[in-house]
Amino acid sequence: MTAFIKVHNPANGEFIQEVPISTQDEIKKAIIKGHGSFKSWSKVNAHERSRLLREWAQKIQEQKEDIAVLMTKENGKPLCESLGEVDYATSYIDWYAEEAKRIYGRTIPASTESKRIIVSRVPVGLVAAITPWNFPAAMMTRKAAPALAAGCTFIVKPAEETPLTSIKLIELAHEVGFPMDVIQYVNGDGKSVGELFTSSPYVRKITFTGSTPVGKSLIKNSSDTIKHVTMELGGHAPLIVAEDADIDLAVQQTIATKFRNAGQTCVCANRLIVHESIVETYSSKLIHAVSQLKVGNGLEKTTDIGPIINEKGFNKIVSQIKNAVDQGAEVMIGNHFDASSEDGYFFVYPTVLKNVNSSMTIMQEETFGPVAPIISFNKLEEAIEIANSTPYGLAAYFFTNDYRTGTYLTEHLDFGIIGWNDGAPSGAHVPFGGMKESGLGREGGPEGIESYLETKYLSIGNL
Ligand code: NAP
Repeated sequence: MTAFIKVHNPANGEFIQEVPISTQDEIKKAIIKGHGSFKSWSKVNAHERSRLLREWAQKIQEQKEDIAVLMTKENGKPLCESLGEVDYATSYIDWYAEEAKRIYGRTIPASTESKRIIVSRVPVGLVAAITPWNFPAAMMTRKAAPALAAGCTFIVKPAEETPLTSIKLIELAHEVGFPMDVIQYVNGDGKSVGELFTSSPYVRKITFTGSTPVGKSLIKNSSDTIKHVTMELGGHAPLIVAEDADIDLAVQQTIATKFRNAGQTCVCANRLIVHESIVETYSSKLIHAVSQLKVGNGLEKTTDIGPIINEKGFNKIVSQIKNAVDQGAEVMIGNHFDASSEDGYFFVYPTVLKNVNSSMTIMQEETFGPVAPIISFNKLEEAIEIANSTPYGLAAYFFTNDYRTGTYLTEHLDFGIIGWNDGAPSGAHVPFGGMKESGLGREGGPEGIESYLETKYLSIGNL
């Protein structure tokens, strides 16, 4: 009997749609088909691959509104954010449609006259992707687009909470002419699908976005067959506000990075590290801005903050706030919840905490929720020490108008992405990814297609 994933709206628990869970047999068949179609797809010329990608992007844009509504229903984020995500997801397809035509090799002068040397770039083979629920469209296209542009075939397993957006996008890819076996999806729980992906010799690359523990297990399991891996893992971003910062800009950008997607983004600011001379002004302006944010169903036009994706995520946020308050943190606004396990919805009102210290779990673990803890510093060295004292190294932000302070912070922060007076540094044209336990490899920009390519070198002798 077929088993199903039942997808619910996290804003009210309403049933949306069910999708069949792929059986082990179906997943193995999908892998074989993906491997089989690699031979023909990798021979399709780059201009044709580019054309198909452009048509896919156009088709998605034609259905932007419907896709955004579907995304808000299954993920909960405000509709304007879903519309923004459809554009963001499409921008990766557009970008890699162009990069497909720029996969260059090189020639190397030989050491003897009788030889010629040619280096070419070839696709790695079948790519298997596992994606999270927080960006159901963009996390998929940011992997699929460079893979297909490079000439790889592609299978994705979307998160069980949000499979519908990914499925819709893949159906559109088929509509514009991508062969069925070149881009596929399977559904199921991460662990069992992940084991089938990693153990198959046909899968030549695993690309994953999600939590660090799962990333580590995928890397381990990929080692038996020496697969390529790209890992976009957890973050714990510091946001430093220096003494001379433009406080209004810092507050506006803090709101943008901290509260987007109800704080459920891997690059969202988790630790606000503010100079002691301005901490009162910054905090009161931040609290005022937070008090304007409306919590609710993402389909309502006035909503700024949607629900938390599930009870597990909700419990983690609540326990981090409690742990901080028990240890002396002061709640400036928030610490208010509207949740029902029975009905299946979990809202956290945006919360700002003051008098936070480094021993609180909120300063040590990723929150993935709309909670902003503020800690103050005196010397820049202290701010750097607090910012870097984490195993994560994904994104960091700082606000200063002094180029010496900015240069110093840039050079001392151990993070893959840095926003200087900028709370939104992501884009299809830039290399997104983390240092330390935040990941391996980069997605976006020219770097994003590199990891789908092998280097093949030819030496012609006896000329
Ligand atoms: P998660 O538990 O790691 O889940 C992400 C995906 O991995 C889902 O598709 C999930 O499938 C699958 N999965 C779960 N256990 C697995 C296993 N043992 N083997 C293989 N796949 C498995 O993470 P999450 O809690 O959903 O997402 C939040 C985390 O992702 C945060 O830590 C966040 O920082 C990180 N994230 C990072 C980025 C980035 O770009 N660096 C972007 C977004 C999110 P099912 O849940 O459907 O079983």
